Amino acid sequence: MESFLPPQVLLLGPGPSPVPEPVLAAMARPTLGHLDPRFVAMMDEIKELLRATFGTANALTLPISAPGSAGMEAAFVNLVEPGDTVIVGRNGVFGERMRENVVRIGATAVVVDAPWGEPIDPQQVEEALRGHPGAKAVAFVHAETSTGACSDAATICRLAREHGALAIVDAVTSLAGLPVEADAWGADAIYSGSQKCLSAPPGLAPISFSARAVEVLSARRTPVQSWFLDMSLVTRYWSQGQGGGRSYHHTAPVNLLYALHEALLLVHEEGLDAAWRRHAEAHRHLCDGLERLGLELAVDARWRLPQLNVVRIPDGVDDADLRRRLLLEHGIEIGAGLGALAGRVWRIGLMGHGARIENVERLLGALAELLDRRLV
Ligand SMILES: *Cc1c(COP(=O)(O)O)cnc(C)c1O
Repeated sequence: MESFLPPQVLLLGPGPSPVPEPVLAAMARPTLGHLDPRFVAMMDEIKELLRATFGTANALTLPISAPGSAGMEAAFVNLVEPGDTVIVGRNGVFGERMRENVVRIGATAVVVDAPWGEPIDPQQVEEALRGHPGAKAVAFVHAETSTGACSDAATICRLAREHGALAIVDAVTSLAGLPVEADAWGADAIYSGSQKCLSAPPGLAPISFSARAVEVLSARRTPVQSWFLDMSLVTRYWSQGQGGGRSYHHTAPVNLLYALHEALLLVHEEGLDAAWRRHAEAHRHLCDGLERLGLELAVDARWRLPQLNVVRIPDGVDDADLRRRLLLEHGIEIGAGLGALAGRVWRIGLMGHGARIENVERLLGALAELLDRRLV
């Protein structure tokens, strides 16, 4: 065996997204001790940059040392206890995973379903809240990566608050690709992943808890069932304790945090507004091009995500074979359909650094060749 040398692939799937050179370079810098004061100072900057990215002033904002799924699990295990009721919006794979999290805690999930490819209907959320007074939380996915639909996060969070429930928001795919305003919405737990629109490597889950959520956490009747994701323990490493020091919880993924720090710097150097605009422009360019190729988008333009485009596979085209040739002959990765959409759609991600006109052009050219179609 020899050292592994990965090929250059243009990542236009549902994540990971392309990681820019400065972020890769940051990761290759010397590893420091996870309690080294210089490293700790950088951790503080990460928290500050994350607050700016989530649109929040929440003190409890940090990256969990694990992928987006751990962000989801952390939100649920910290805020939900056995016997609680949680209203879960389910319009795709990730909404179903939220339900699974609730049930595994020993809580009751009241599911508000929407058809795949459509957003959660706030009116149905409100009906569920009326039907279940005392519900502990409302949970939903802002940007459903499995279907390409965007839900109205501001309205659903407001409804939760009006009914005295916490709002748990999955912003894994939306953060930095679409406006995310945790405080303006009134989100109580909101989490993301490093490898989508932040364009860092996978393996970290930024998360933020509101003051209201922290109160709920400190008033728990039962200990958090997960030792690793227990925020009351994790915080002792991520912020100053009473004695002014920090204590060991787990060994932080030091170099991965360098990468996240650099990726966040790039996001804020560009500016969130500019990044959102760039995603929207790349998306419009892709939609135009797909139309010129005679391909059809599966999601209504009113709630289409710019960073995740679901395209119908034309009749007679071999899904797996086309994606394999796109990867091996053209060096471009796109995503397959998930669950009920497997074999019926492709998922084209324009996430983070990937959301650029030149990438869209390259993909359209390759698709035209592989489908033997012309851009008309
Ligand atoms: C990718 C994704 C996740 C899971 O993140 P991982 O990093 O793969 O664990 C959760 N929710 C949504 C909406 C996602 O797109």
